[in-house]
Amino acid sequence: MASARTRDNEPKAPSRANSFPVAEGEDPWTDEEIEDIRKELLADIARMERAIEVAEAGLADLFEEGTDGAGRDPADVGSSNFERDQEMSLAQNARDMLEQAQLAHRMFESGNYGVCESCGQPIGKDRLQVFPRATMCVTCKQREERR
Ligand SMILES: [Zn+2]
Repeated sequence: MASARTRDNEPKAPSRANSFPVAEGEDPWTDEEIEDIRKELLADIARMERAIEVAEAGLADLFEEGTDGAGRDPADVGSSNFERDQEMSLAQNARDMLEQAQLAHRMFESGNYGVCESCGQPIGKDRLQVFPRATMCVTCKQREERR
């Protein structure tokens, strides 16, 4: 961890911690907490990109298998269709999560992070620390999921 503290010598970037809202009764963000969130988002984005690559490589394999499937046991074909559906929903999931992480990261960079995109209220620090990709407050999220 020696390299982590060299930033004391760098010109200090203006603190963004104050521009991110917290929910009522929560402590203000600290620079460290903000930095953790930023790292978490970037790690999420990298992880999702890898997951999509893996899922798409898997899909390509399955499609290839599928084209020379003449004369195969129907049970085999059935299970590879099932596999393909699974791979597809994995890839789709990863894509959704990637989009969400990218959106959260954009909001972060533009200084709008932590504001519910639906109602404009603070999302709340507690929620964001558990779920840095959140772009909606709990209330709006639940309303959306009930639709
Ligand atoms: Zn909301």
